[in-house]
Amino acid sequence: MTTENAAPTECPRCGHTALDLLHTSPVAGCWEVYQCEQCLYCWRTSEPARRTRRDAYPESFKLTVDDIRNAPEVPTIPPLRAQA
Ligand SMILES: [Zn+2]
Repeated sequence: MTTENAAPTECPRCGHTALDLLHTSPVAGCWEVYQCEQCLYCWRTSEPARRTRRDAYPESFKLTVDDIRNAPEVPTIPPLRAQA
């Protein structure tokens, strides 16, 4: 097994180590899709390092456990505007 094909061990966004394998490529061995059990971030292993590796993930988009616990509720969709 090469490093490229090794299963990820941590979430690129929050660093959590519990990951679920969601999908695998129709042609075996091309890519897998993983999801973090903590922050629900999903990524395909064939995406660039800035989307798939914790050490290359943009600092401003990284999350901590506190960030996740204190995340504000997702806003509801406002009512439709009256037609002009
Ligand atoms: Zn995560």
